[in-house]
Amino acid sequence: MLLQGKIAIITGASRGIGKSIAKSFIAQGATVAFTYRSSEEKAIELEKELTVNGGKAKGFKSDASKMADAESLVKDVLEAFGTIDIVVNNAGITDDTLLIRMSEEQWDRVINVNLKSCFNLTKAVLKTMLKARFGSIINISSVVGVQGNAGQANYAASKAGILGFTKSIALELGSRNIRCNAIAPGFIETEMTAKLDPDTVQGWRNAIPLKRGGTPEDVANACIFLASDMSSYVTGQTLNVCGGMITA
Ligand code: NAP
Repeated sequence: MLLQGKIAIITGASRGIGKSIAKSFIAQGATVAFTYRSSEEKAIELEKELTVNGGKAKGFKSDASKMADAESLVKDVLEAFGTIDIVVNNAGITDDTLLIRMSEEQWDRVINVNLKSCFNLTKAVLKTMLKARFGSIINISSVVGVQGNAGQANYAASKAGILGFTKSIALELGSRNIRCNAIAPGFIETEMTAKLDPDTVQGWRNAIPLKRGGTPEDVANACIFLASDMSSYVTGQTLNVCGGMITA
């Protein structure tokens, strides 16, 4: 029970990695407020799943790219649970294409959902964490943010931006006992990747030193560490959860 008594917000948890983080946090004793943008049914299902064995959890419809939504989310979570100790900025999208074909709309949307969202919620939760002199903020980046990727200039820029944001917040808020770290997942197998061509996916697995794709639980485990007091001397860092895909 590494997160006993802690209150966490996880964005974008109706499916994939966010959902796995929500389940793992509940298993470690945390109270979980999670968000989604449009998957109402999945969110209701998840809320039931998280609370069935006495866990405390609530889903909130909240667009991570909107500052006003972040502000009302924090207000609602404070009303429901009293304080906020942990924030996981997980909500993210891709809209891949080569730069020559990328529209301004595609650029703006990916930057707003992936990067501006981290600014929105971190800023909205700040007063609460400053008052408590406690907080752990975890931003989900990507190995693509570390290395770049052809056909993903918008996504890679958003995920690299997250790393600069993370380091700056760590420097700014360390003296107040608020930590901020990033996780850079590699190839994580989700429902989405299950629909891809099996030979292509096997090729990706073969290229990874650990010879498998990551699971959402692999990312969730890293989140538990960074959210818990086990990492109380860790801030401003990027933890690559990628099976050795990158080593720097
Ligand atoms: P996913 O399965 O597509 O799930 C994305 C989640 O984000 C959904 O719950 C979705 O909610 C939510 N979301 C999307 N736009 C939102 C918005 N504007 N406001 C609030 N929530 C929003 O994605 P995933 O694969 O689990 O990825 C999760 C995070 O890990 C992302 O930041 C992604 O970039 C990062 N990542 C993933 C991989 C990978 O291999 N899967 C690798 C590296 C990094 P709705 O269902 O309501 O739309």
